[in-house]
Amino acid sequence: MKSYFDLIDDGGSDIAGQVGRQRERIAEALAGVQHIVAIGSGKGGVGKSTLTMQLALAMQRRGRRCAILDADLNGPCQARLAGLENAALIPGGRGMTLPRTANGLGVVSVGSAVPESQDLDFASVARGDSHVWRATREFNLFQQLLGLVEWGRLDVLLVDLPPGAERTLQYAEVLGASARFVLVSIPTALARGVVARSTAALRRTPNATLGLIENMSGYYCEDCDEVRPLFDHGRVDTAPELGLPVLASIPFDARLAAASDAGDLESPRGPAVRAIEAAADSILNGLAERRAG
Ligand code: ADP
Repeated sequence: MKSYFDLIDDGGSDIAGQVGRQRERIAEALAGVQHIVAIGSGKGGVGKSTLTMQLALAMQRRGRRCAILDADLNGPCQARLAGLENAALIPGGRGMTLPRTANGLGVVSVGSAVPESQDLDFASVARGDSHVWRATREFNLFQQLLGLVEWGRLDVLLVDLPPGAERTLQYAEVLGASARFVLVSIPTALARGVVARSTAALRRTPNATLGLIENMSGYYCEDCDEVRPLFDHGRVDTAPELGLPVLASIPFDARLAAASDAGDLESPRGPAVRAIEAAADSILNGLAERRAG
């Protein structure tokens, strides 16, 4: 078992001083980042990580400089999605150099430092810690990563948020009021209920939510070359109750799942990838509008 805290400074006892210094470090590290877009849901398994990677790739194809920060420290997926399971976090001039895929996408994921065969131990001073204390330690690590990495000049930094609607507020606070959120749901009442909580949490922040991406809105049948219904009990319309614009509806495409598993960044350009590109365009338009406004 390996603690990621072996790799990163866990701080000392001067908590107030540390908080101030950490905020300064984060502001300095993010100085060249034009936009932060956090991809959340509240619910796990809805395709948030897959879509974060695909949105970043789509934005890159549109000439934007992008990077991903995998904030899901307990279930980091971005290292595998990027094929960067063994990308060492190398100290650079100021902090850690940004690991990059062959096509130049920056990806920071705890999964690059800790093999999947090892669990992550958020060890702390006292064993048997409360859940809250554990969460605080994880959150501290997230902030340290944000401040330690040399992000350089980026058009968009995408943050893949962990599940847990209630923690959205904390992420919004650390990422700052200018960070935008995009929520991912699937067309079931179960997912919609959890996403509704995240939406409610975000309404309490100054952060804008650009919209909702509805994933698994159907499935792409390769043999018949059409998108078919995925949920037998009929599609639950996700958006009206959430009061968010739907940026795109993305079908399940088994080829995308296979490519994601293999860390292959070139998945076939079918209806799913095209819909993700439409979502990327909506997000980029939303960012441009808000900057102009
Ligand atoms: P989350 O980050 O919300 O937990 P993941 O991105 O890990 O979800 O997705 C869960 C699984 O579903 C993964 O195996 C992923 O490859 C697959 N998946 C998600 N969305 C799609 C899609 N539109 N087409 C094909 N596979 C998908």
